[in-house]
Amino acid sequence: MFSASGESNAGKLLGYVAEQSLVDHHCHGVLVRDADQATLESMLTEGGGWPGGSVFDSGAGFAFRRLCPPVLGLAPHAELSDYVARRTELGAAEVSRRFLLRAGVSALCVDTGYIPEPLTSPAELGALAGAAAHEIVRLERVAEEVAEAGVSAAGFADAVRSALAARTASAVGVKSIAAYRTGLDLRPERPSDAEVAAAAGRWLGAAGPGWPRCADETLQRFLLWCGVDLRRPVQLHVGYGDSDVDLHRGNPLLLTPLLRAIQPTGVPVMLLHNYPYHREAGYLAQVFPQVYVDAGLATHNLGARGPALLAEALELAPYGKFLYSSDAFGLPELYYLSAALFRQALSAFLRTGLDDDLYSERTVVRLTWMLCAGNARRAYRLNP
Ligand SMILES: [Zn+2]
Repeated sequence: MFSASGESNAGKLLGYVAEQSLVDHHCHGVLVRDADQATLESMLTEGGGWPGGSVFDSGAGFAFRRLCPPVLGLAPHAELSDYVARRTELGAAEVSRRFLLRAGVSALCVDTGYIPEPLTSPAELGALAGAAAHEIVRLERVAEEVAEAGVSAAGFADAVRSALAARTASAVGVKSIAAYRTGLDLRPERPSDAEVAAAAGRWLGAAGPGWPRCADETLQRFLLWCGVDLRRPVQLHVGYGDSDVDLHRGNPLLLTPLLRAIQPTGVPVMLLHNYPYHREAGYLAQVFPQVYVDAGLATHNLGARGPALLAEALELAPYGKFLYSSDAFGLPELYYLSAALFRQALSAFLRTGLDDDLYSERTVVRLTWMLCAGNARRAYRLNP
């Protein structure tokens, strides 16, 4: 219950923020198996464990230990061994259901392009969360599926275009992981089919048996322009990621010429994660009308520093172009943790504005809707 001033009696969150459901515009599937302590250590952050230490001794770890145990009926700060025992007792399905329901999301946009082990499908994830689930198709994965199925260099461009048309028939967007493959220093021009055929020939000729990893600047650009042609939002991994990314090549400012070239199409470009370049991303959202930004992944990795992150991300970014995402993968705790920390950060941000008389309570209601759900619903054309 909330007072007339929007204060939640239950906690320190602004009531409006506590009550507003979220649209998580970038996340992945959740594990279908139980997670033991080693799994929690390996999946909590973008790094893994190391001898003699624990990833739980971190911003993400202490936020996890403060917020997650109560969802399983334990006291805050429970020992990890007790937490894992309780997790096992409840079973993976019940643990997932509890955390996903508590995240308070109304819609999820699920990246289905990275499945290193069995994960829930978008429909299964949506059912656990009590939310509508939509698919985001990963461009590189489609190109790699086309290559695996067997294609000539000359036929590659058309084969990718028709595979993408089929794969995205019911998807709400596409995603590029060029940051992981070539970095974001991409030339702006749309490559010709002859250039694509030449690049595909080099790639297909060089690809040995097994995973044909697409990591060619011309092909990355081709895939991005294919995504633009589909006229759905194009997500781009930016900044923060695991050790497979060269972070210095993931600065979104490297995208400036490409964003300028895409601008006339009006197709939304969604810059994901962005940390530690969230201020640069905010600048791009300000100057390019079709650019949207989030602070996914960093929101839970920064733990108690979430309010500082959000305040920095919103220094320049128009409030109408900032979206919520968890970038949660595998552990159901991360969907909840990210949502809880985002609500804390947003609540602190809006409360400061209210205290400083920057805006009225009526505006707080409107901003809460925009930042939690409305901006994503508009950009992805999701039904309310
Ligand atoms: Zn992701």
